[in-house]
Amino acid sequence: MVKIQNIAVLTSGGDAPGMNACVRAVVRAAIYHGIGAYGVIDGFNGLIKNQFKKLDYHDVSNIIQRGGTILGTARCPDFLHKKERKKAFINLQALKIDALIIIGGDGSFKGASIFSHEFDLPIIGIPATIDNDITGTDYTIGFDTALNTIIDAVDKIRDTASSHHRVFLVEVMGNNSGILALNAAAASGAEEVFMPERNEDLQKFEEKLRRALAANKSSIIIVAEGDQIGGAKEVFAYLKDKNLSDKVRVAVLGHMQRGGSPSFLDRLNATLFGEQAVVELLQGNTNLYIGMHNNKVIASDINHTQVKSPPKNMDYLKIIRKLSVY
Ligand code: ATP
Repeated sequence: MVKIQNIAVLTSGGDAPGMNACVRAVVRAAIYHGIGAYGVIDGFNGLIKNQFKKLDYHDVSNIIQRGGTILGTARCPDFLHKKERKKAFINLQALKIDALIIIGGDGSFKGASIFSHEFDLPIIGIPATIDNDITGTDYTIGFDTALNTIIDAVDKIRDTASSHHRVFLVEVMGNNSGILALNAAAASGAEEVFMPERNEDLQKFEEKLRRALAANKSSIIIVAEGDQIGGAKEVFAYLKDKNLSDKVRVAVLGHMQRGGSPSFLDRLNATLFGEQAVVELLQGNTNLYIGMHNNKVIASDINHTQVKSPPKNMDYLKIIRKLSVY
């Protein structure tokens, strides 16, 4: 075991449900191992601006079930500059903080890795983003909750869609990835899914929609925000152009997908990942990120993170279509 006096934990990038459960696990694991724990306010900004909060056992009580992040999160353009990163390191030194745990996405890992190499500071990353677009883990923290939120919203939209025999274009988040859209479409019984990884056959879609409308059938179409045609509004504009939009409505789910109490899976993964991150540091490891693969917690080289594309389960697409032929 390596001697570590204090660690700091921060949340960075977009918030994701389960970040709090992860902060709790990091802090409690550190305390268990006799290490002091600091929370950094608002991601890398807090490192530069010297905004730290000492976290004791009770400071992380009653947060496992809360969405968002009690530490605050942010994008921090200043962290791209070495001069600012130097300030951050001086602030860490002043508090005798020996290591850093970063809960965030791919971009946050890049920044942390650069920082680690510049100042020889041990760091461990924990993937948290609703997009689940990071290689090296089957699940990122927040993905499962976001999927549950989408499914719940689609169920409600379906009530009005079926009552009025309407077609709903439901836009979901996911950045440049269709993972969220594909999984949500399969699990919500959607008739079609638009995702950035595919060049959509718009003519086929149009034919399918014409058949549905002629049969007075309601439909749910999931559209990823990063789709090549644009989002749901752009698909709507295409249909309007074809005189097909009378019975079509758009629902952009937006930021509600990032909120809410984390699901069982997100709380569990957040807890396992947080504890493992502290263990890795104590074992003298650095520049790793924690993940889950085949139900086992694993650690991978943080410099080898890549965006998952295309999603692993592209075969879901065939099933979605097979089950929506009538
Ligand atoms: P999300 O998946 O929610 O977008 P993310 O961690 O990928 O999360 P980014 O906005 O890409 O979010 O990155 C978060 C922060 O990480 C940036 O605002 C910046 O402070 C830091 N960062 C990213 N890339 C670098 C880099 N090359 N050098 C230094 N810092 C970086």
